[in-house]
Amino acid sequence: MIRPFTYQALPMRVVFGVGSLATLSDEVEALGLTRVLVLCSPEQEVTGKQVAAALGVRAAGVLAEARMHVPIEVARRARELAAELGADGCVAVGGGSAIGLGKAIALEHELPVIAVPTTYAGSEMTPVWGLTEGGQKRTGRDVRVLPRTVLYDAELTLTLPAEMSVASGLNAVAHAVEGLYAPDATPIISLMAEEGARALAAALPRVVADGGDLDARAEAQYGAWLCGAVLAATTMSLHHKLCHTLGGTLDLPHAQTHTVVLPHALAYNQPAAPEAVAALSRALGGVPDPARELWDLAGRLDAPRSLRELGMQEGDIPRIAELAVANPYANPRPVTRDGVEPLLRAAWAGDAPTPLRR
Ligand code: NAD
Repeated sequence: MIRPFTYQALPMRVVFGVGSLATLSDEVEALGLTRVLVLCSPEQEVTGKQVAAALGVRAAGVLAEARMHVPIEVARRARELAAELGADGCVAVGGGSAIGLGKAIALEHELPVIAVPTTYAGSEMTPVWGLTEGGQKRTGRDVRVLPRTVLYDAELTLTLPAEMSVASGLNAVAHAVEGLYAPDATPIISLMAEEGARALAAALPRVVADGGDLDARAEAQYGAWLCGAVLAATTMSLHHKLCHTLGGTLDLPHAQTHTVVLPHALAYNQPAAPEAVAALSRALGGVPDPARELWDLAGRLDAPRSLRELGMQEGDIPRIAELAVANPYANPRPVTRDGVEPLLRAAWAGDAPTPLRR
């Protein structure tokens, strides 16, 4: 039986296609923008400058200072520069860091953001912003930060190294996994989650085999779009809570932490989420235990499988477990200290996730 649900669509435009960067200028014009500030991280300055050159007089400048988790100093500088240049919008080119910087400007100045994602993290689809000050990350939801237009051009992902492609792709799959058992799951979002997980699981081995395979890159990006939409529409649970705690407290790398934790968080929740297990089983090719399959997939793709290799000390496990259970939040299975600590121990050591018993 279909359970009752409430579904609210988000107001945004998505342009998808290899070579679609050529239409960016039209998209800027369609929003009535005349002077946009291009944002990117220092590592992608060349790409940022190319985008600005393609925009011609519609580009007011380039700020290549985006960093993970949007440090407040960077956000302030970006806001000041946008005001100084008289920018009437931003084009954020890059992963969640560049897009997060665009959101930080929108939060204060309400400048429209056009996102051109080059990873699979999914931030471009969400109204969620984050800002880090004094080592503390604050996040919030505000529809003013939701990008007005998202332009997906797989050509821009060709340079994403295999290791980052896999970690970022599995970060996206984590949105789908938690969307499937979210308290506010809806039928349309569950369809997107299943298809997003399927597309990424199919595409990532092809991306690793040949990073220049544009077809595989486009399929991965299609999956990332769907998973990003799932992230925007549902409440995330244990997995995201653990990753935010690990990232925020120990400064572990974002996408890689998701990659390591996902099989364990899913294994924890599988007994209490049979519909999610069924959907993921279909998405991953009819496997009996999706958590185990995600762990095997990470192994086949040479992705990190232990928190130890990401730099976490074993002695940090009790503190992280404590923090993760501190504030109650939605999860299909009760989140207890006794449950979370063994989960973290297995993830730290790189052990296989707890097998699913039916
Ligand atoms: P990122 O944006 O930090 O990028 C990682 C590195 O990869 C950067 O050096 C970047 O320049 C480089 N890079 C990106 N695309 C590339 C490409 N195509 N070729 C070569 N190099 C490339 O990483 P991320 O995982 O996309 O984003 C992580 C951040 O996004 C975190 O701060 C996370 O909290 C945030 N995030 C926010 C949301 C949200 O909804 N607000 C969702 C997901 C992630």
